Amino acid sequence: MTELNEVTITKAIIDRYYEKLTANLDVDVAIVGGGPAGLVAGYYLAKAGKKVAMFERKLSIGGGMWGGGMLFNEIVVQKAALHLLDEFGIRYADVDGLHFTADSIESVTSLTSKAVQAGLTIFNCVSAEDVLMREDRVIGLVINWSPVEMAGLHVDPLSMRSKYVIDATGHATEVVHVVQKKVPGELSTPSGKIDGEKSMWSDRAETLTIENTKEVFPGLYVAGMAANATFGGPRMGPIFGGMLLSGEKVAGMLLVKLG
Ligand SMILES: Cc1cc2nc3c(=O)[nH]c(=O)nc-3n(C[C@H](O)[C@H](O)[C@H](O)COP(=O)(O)OP(=O)(O)OC[C@H]3O[C@@H](n4cnc5c(N)ncnc54)[C@H](O)[C@@H]3O)c2cc1C
Repeated sequence: MTELNEVTITKAIIDRYYEKLTANLDVDVAIVGGGPAGLVAGYYLAKAGKKVAMFERKLSIGGGMWGGGMLFNEIVVQKAALHLLDEFGIRYADVDGLHFTADSIESVTSLTSKAVQAGLTIFNCVSAEDVLMREDRVIGLVINWSPVEMAGLHVDPLSMRSKYVIDATGHATEVVHVVQKKVPGELSTPSGKIDGEKSMWSDRAETLTIENTKEVFPGLYVAGMAANATFGGPRMGPIFGGMLLSGEKVAGMLLVKLG
């Protein structure tokens, strides 16, 4: 065969995607949201041999990291999170021994590349619109193509099962919102409801992002900005150490649970 064949190209894409999709309909952990917190969580879980799928609404992975602060594409990472930049091979510059800067493009692409190579399967352009529930817990997700969601088409979603779900949807904390609205029971927040993100306080917010990374409902964990939005922590601005550390923490917690 000497000529490239359009049908072979098409069939190869469909076959490979179908293989990936069916292999990820029942996983150890489903991560909703491909920002820094979700990517770090996915990397560590996959590296430990767990079956992990990530669903990201947008075409691009990286969440709010690409634009640094106000489109200045540099991020700040505090000293406590430098080991994660080292783990992912992201280069950085020292500002004053406490604050460090990294190129946001290098950061997103390195996190994504390392996570996928560790074994994380990412489905982009797929939104989680609901959860699968049983009497006592969340047991998976209800998913659909984001273009279907964006166009408001009347198309039924599909479902996938997971032992645990991580809501890493950032400020929107979308999975927790669904659970609060539609699943009987209370969240493990002080109010039993989503406590809501507070105004900016970088230092406090970075600590709380990590503290608030935990199980919020049986089967459902929160990580990254979603953790603060759920448990009432402040926003922090374009400093990303807390997001990275939160991803590392939730992966560690789930590895203990999964054994
Ligand atoms: C509009 C905006 C405002 C921001 N404001 C702040 C701020 O006030 N303070 C601050 O500290 N930082 C802010 N950031 C910076 C930055 O986003 C976050 O701090 C950081 O990126 C959060 O990381 P994360 O991993 O928690 O989530 P994000 O980087 O936000 O990533 C979440 C990802 O989840 C995806 N997603 C959401 N819902 C679904 C769903 N249902 N299904 C599938 N995918 C889904 C999103 O498309 C996104 O890619 C902002 C970013 C944006 C884009």
